[in-house]
Parts: sequence; C-alpha cells; structure tokens
Amino acid sequence: MRNSDYVSGMRGEDVLVSTPAGLCCPAGGFYIDPVRPVDKALITHGHSDHARAGHGAVLATPETLDVMRLRCGDDCAGSMQAARYGETIAIDDVAVSFHPAGHVLGSAQIRVERGGLRVVVSGDYKDVVDPTCAPFELLPCDVFVTEATFGLPVFRHGDPAVETAKLLQSVALFPERAHLVGVYALGKAQRVIALIRQASYEKPIYLHGALENFTRYYVARGIGLGELRRARDAGKAELAGAIALCPPGALRELWSRRFPDPVTSFASGWMRVRARARQRQIDLPLVISDHADWDGLTATIAATGAGEVWVTHGEEDALVHWCMTSGRKARPLRIVGYGEEDADVDAGPEPASSAEAGPIGSGGSPPSGSDQTGNGEARS
Ligand SMILES: [Zn+2]
Ligand SMILES: [Zn+2]
Repeated sequence: MRNSDYVSGMRGEDVLVSTPAGLCCPAGGFYIDPVRPVDKALITHGHSDHARAGHGAVLATPETLDVMRLRCGDDCAGSMQAARYGETIAIDDVAVSFHPAGHVLGSAQIRVERGGLRVVVSGDYKDVVDPTCAPFELLPCDVFVTEATFGLPVFRHGDPAVETAKLLQSVALFPERAHLVGVYALGKAQRVIALIRQASYEKPIYLHGALENFTRYYVARGIGLGELRRARDAGKAELAGAIALCPPGALRELWSRRFPDPVTSFASGWMRVRARARQRQIDLPLVISDHADWDGLTATIAATGAGEVWVTHGEEDALVHWCMTSGRKARPLRIVGYGEEDADVDAGPEPASSAEAGPIGSGGSPPSGSDQTGNGEARS
C-alpha cells in the first residue's frame, strides 16, 4: 500500500473539506483560495479568481502578496504574512508549506500535512519551463488536488518556442504592419515578452497601459524583459512593424486603431480550439498556456504517487475518469468561481497615466539562469 492514510487512519477529509467558500482546513481554521471573504486565507497565486480581496489574514508568498497589493491596494486584507518557498509553518496541529507551481511569478502549491497525511493543493500550475517564474516542484503526496482547465486529451500545448517563432515569422513577413498580441496581464504578458527575447528579438516591445503595473513589478524582481515602451506614447510610423501586447479585450477596441494595419494575435491555451480563434477574429493564434495540458496533468498526477485525486475546476469529469481508470480514487470538487482569469482582462479604458514615470523596463539582459528563471525540466 502506498498511502500513509491506511497507516495513520487519517483520510483526506480529515485534513481538507470542500465548502461553498472553497477548500477548508477545519483543524487549522483556514481556507485555501477561498472565493468568499474568510478570517484566514492561504493563497496559491495572484490571479483574481484565486486571490480575492476582503479576507481577515492572508498567508502567501511575498510575490503573491505584492501582486494582491498591486491589484487591490494595501488594505486588500486585514493582515498579510509572507511564506517563503519550502518553509514549514505550523497552524495548530497542521503543517503547511508553499512550493513553486510554475504558473506565474510567486505561484505556489500548498502542502498541508496532518497526522502523517499529506495533501497538496496545486492551485493553477504548469510543468513546462517558464523563464519568468520558478519551475514546478513535484511533491509526493497522498491526496493531490488539481485543476483541470485543459483536462481533455485534445489539449496538447506543444512548444512555446515554436509558437513564438510563428509570431516572429509573421513580423518578418509583414514589416509594414503592427502585430498586436492579446495576453493576460499577470504572467502571460511577461512570459510572452521573455519568449520573444529568447528568440533573439531585441527591438522595443510596446505595451497597453493595463499591462504596465505587473510588468514593471516583474522587472523590479530581476526578470529582464528588454526595452519596453508605452504604445500610447508612440506614433503610427513608429508602430509599423512593431510588436505590441494588450489585454485580449483591447484587440477590438478603439485602442487598436492607432496601429497600422494590425495583425491580431492571442496567446492562450484556448487557441488550440480553432473555433475560439475564429470567434475572436484572431489572425494568428498562439498556443501558449500557463496551465498544464492533458499530458502535463496526467504525468504530474502519476508522478506525485497520490492514491487519491480531487479536481477543483475545469474539465473535471474527464480527468476524474482518467484517474479512476488508472487505479486512483478521484472526485470532482466543482468549485464555482475559479477559471475566470479572463474576467479582468477585458481592458476597459486604458489607465490615463501609470503610477510611475520613466521606462517600464530598460534594457536588462533576457532571462537566463538566475533563480527566478525556470531551468526546470519539461514535463516528464
Ligand atoms: Zn491562475
Ligand atoms: Zn485559476
């Protein structure tokens, strides 16, 4: 028997229970990524569907706390405590620790251990190299709690470098046109810039105002993104042949009219679905995802050694079915409120002026081998 729960008599439900507010640890009196305001919240990462404002006390990585402050202000929680990766924190008779999830800067899986039973709540994660965040850490556990955003065999993301090359080929082919790439503001924007830099593109990259704050933060955390400029400060002639990033919603807004004959692109795992690209009128879909694909989800579940899997959101039924047919206990949690990262990406009006003057990112070498940069392995 591989599960210590048979040894200790502890079950997953003695550690975490699913409630309408989200996953709760009654023994420690806390919730993980609650979708409603609670007294004590542990937060996996800064996306708005996981990191909500209004909790009493928040425990998260320093980067996630910074992102929450950037998004919602200093008073977005009653109090904040930072947890460093790998540090064990005791909450009553429960031990919790945060470990890299490879999803966005500061993203964490949260391991909760009680009475010898280890439950890992992975939040959102991906098991591929991302130059803008620490690589996913594989955590052996008894119960693995996973998302299933792309939990269907049809979702295979492929190589992000190949997708980036498609963009740069199009830029070379249409030197008089601008290329507008729709990206989520936290994580995807900075990763796409880093991928473009890794492909040796050194010209300035232009940004929509809604992407400035998080991008500035990444640069401040030592992630080199090369020269970045505000699109709104540039004239039409300067934007010919340029690459500009914006929230997906801005691709069809007034904002995009300043660009000469733009080619529209969107970097998302959803771009694997041709109908979605067509529906959004995307000329150049780029399959670049910050979530594990089908192979990533199933390989990760197997590698954790978990005998039991709980699926929070996404394509729960397909992944639960796969788990059961491969000899694992599994159940869907059907947590309502996750998977809405797009909710804050329809840009609305561009911020009139950024919080700080000066360049968003100036020079700086492209990410290579520092410890923020993911030199971790691709999926096993
Ligand atoms: Zn996320
Ligand atoms: Zn999410």
